[in-house]
Amino acid sequence: MVTKLEDLKLNKLISEEELQTRIKELGCEIDKYYNGEEVTVICVLKGSVMFMVDLVKNFTMPMKMEFIRLSSYGSNMTSSGKVNAVDISLPDLNDKNVLIIEDIVDTGLTAKFLLDFIALNFRTKSTKFCSLLDKKCKRQVDVKPDYYGFDVDDVFLVGYGLDFDGYCRNIPYIGNAV
Ligand code: 5GP
Repeated sequence: MVTKLEDLKLNKLISEEELQTRIKELGCEIDKYYNGEEVTVICVLKGSVMFMVDLVKNFTMPMKMEFIRLSSYGSNMTSSGKVNAVDISLPDLNDKNVLIIEDIVDTGLTAKFLLDFIALNFRTKSTKFCSLLDKKCKRQVDVKPDYYGFDVDDVFLVGYGLDFDGYCRNIPYIGNAV
């Protein structure tokens, strides 16, 4: 297992061009769905920031951005199985269309935690979940993103927001550690 940044070698899995093409497609599909209705986008920091920024460039409806911080991986390469709400302060989302943006759904624990949190605290007009990547083979709870970009296998991914111990988020493609 890779433990140091110096030992990290990346095998390119999804190129920058593939990412941008699919994100544009996804953004236009979501934009069409909301049909001009206002949306509050919730970006789950830190991993989703690159994806969120590129995705919302395709939106034409009035929109607001909120940012929350959750963590479940820490500095490990597998989920701890426990979701830590580092900062989950949100405005009043009653009667709002809410779109949660995640980098990857792995065990599904983070997505479930967040969907339960929203359902418990607000009566939204609608709540949708969009993830760039879907690692379906690792699912522990029954959650399905309403929108997702790519299916991925059970490998540790970095780049385009996804980190290795805080590093590599700036890499413009997605690779797996080899
Ligand atoms: P889940 O709660 O679904 O198990 O995991 C969600 C979070 O775990 C993601 O938002 C992401 O931060 C992290 N994660 C899951 N798989 C990977 C991966 O392959 N690489 C990295 N860097 N983070 C991952």
